[in-house]
Amino acid sequence: MTQNIRSLSTYILMNKAFINGKWIDSLENKSFGILNPASQKVIGNVPDLTIEQVNSSILLAHDSFDKWKKISGKERGHILRKWFDLMIKNKEALAALITQENGKTMKESLTEIELGASYIEWFSGEAPRINGDILTSPKREKQLLVFKEPLGVCAFITPWNFPSAMIARKVGPALAAGCTCVLKPSEETPLSALALAKLSQEAGLPPGVFNVLTCSTKSNSDVGKLLCTHPLISKISFTGSTKIGKILLSHCSQGIKKTSMELGGNAPFIIFPSADLKKALSGLIASKFRCSGQTCVCANRILVHADIYDEFARLLKEEVGDMPVGPGNDPATDIGPLINKAAADNIEALLEDSVLKGAKVSAGGKRLGETFFEPTVLQHVTPDMRIYQEEIFGPVASLIKFSTEEEAVEIANSTPFGLASYFYSRDVEQIWRVKSSLHFGMVGINEGIITTAEAPFGGVKYSGFGYEGSKYGIEEYLHKKYVCWSV
Ligand code: ADP
Repeated sequence: MTQNIRSLSTYILMNKAFINGKWIDSLENKSFGILNPASQKVIGNVPDLTIEQVNSSILLAHDSFDKWKKISGKERGHILRKWFDLMIKNKEALAALITQENGKTMKESLTEIELGASYIEWFSGEAPRINGDILTSPKREKQLLVFKEPLGVCAFITPWNFPSAMIARKVGPALAAGCTCVLKPSEETPLSALALAKLSQEAGLPPGVFNVLTCSTKSNSDVGKLLCTHPLISKISFTGSTKIGKILLSHCSQGIKKTSMELGGNAPFIIFPSADLKKALSGLIASKFRCSGQTCVCANRILVHADIYDEFARLLKEEVGDMPVGPGNDPATDIGPLINKAAADNIEALLEDSVLKGAKVSAGGKRLGETFFEPTVLQHVTPDMRIYQEEIFGPVASLIKFSTEEEAVEIANSTPFGLASYFYSRDVEQIWRVKSSLHFGMVGINEGIITTAEAPFGGVKYSGFGYEGSKYGIEEYLHKKYVCWSV
């Protein structure tokens, strides 16, 4: 372990998997290392569980389901509320852990912990409010009732870009509904998941209700298949690439599983001539460069009207040129490292392809070391370029010029993805028209940061389906049992 990780609170730094309330090693004594993306040094090791251990965790989660679902919603809410309190109490240590294993800046890591905790808090309030219905019957002698019941054991597969919040917003509603959870966090960032498990134990979550399985890259496909086909699993919730989402969905079709899929995005960010340019600039910086451009709601195609294109490109270039690149634990850093070398290789290849096809780099453009990349502005981006079609997942702002509202909407919608979209305008009629025409699950109007526990997060098209957060989120973990009672 490096110096950095030792300076973290050892209290939340766990190096074992968490199954049925116990901290366990791999049956085969195998483990894998976690790299700090800034230093490329190993910061910890966690067990590489065997497929038998994954299987037994599902059985134990199923045993726990019988007890957990019988605890009142009010009591489940109390436990979740204690978990939230512990997350807030330990937010500095939890954030430092995210920065160590994911690379994002401490400021962003703290925001992530607060965001994740807000989902646990939100669903602690939803747990006692799971109400059924009495329906009007067509016949006097029949009573029609609807009871909402928890689904059962739910399996979660989560990515590395939000190693803590992504877990909280899936597990929070599942636990509130009375389901039990088996989580496979990303092999890049399992330490944040284990830290959450440690705090859940302290909050009083009973054994087996929340389990964290640490598995290496090579077992991903076997573990994914088992989770999607196991008869005792009722639901799969996945966040990650569309490519892996498709594989999991095909397994789920064999297991007939209820699913939620939060997949890739290709967010348009449209700036109309009436926009407040300063506001658009700060919204774009927040949306584009958060987590070094590695979020699924990051602005991906920045569409700027021809009348304001030159001015906006200049403002963006000035702003981006001043953003310091460095390790996330340096308070001066704005842009941390990319998650790994492969991610930096991909950004290099995307830029090379764009420049070859006529794009112009007006700021940044260079890789720094193995995992760092300068924040970059790319102009004259056209549809034939990979960067136009693919999710960039790096600190590159690609600008596209447009002339009419119809053209902007057409370009924005010309993607198989449909997660987040953004536009800036002060023309009220245009705002109404454009928000209705955008074929995306979420629309930010004059705003670049839209995620909050109170609102439904979810996509359409290749970006998946299902909602996380909000009053709708808990429904994903409940089924409606209809009872017809002849009286
Ligand atoms: P990303 O490119 O953002 O890492 P992935 O879709 O590759 O997105 O990974 C998201 C999550 O899916 C991670 O937890 C990863 O371990 C897991 N994963 C990757 N491949 C598979 C697979 N074949 N089956 C199940 N899970 C997988």
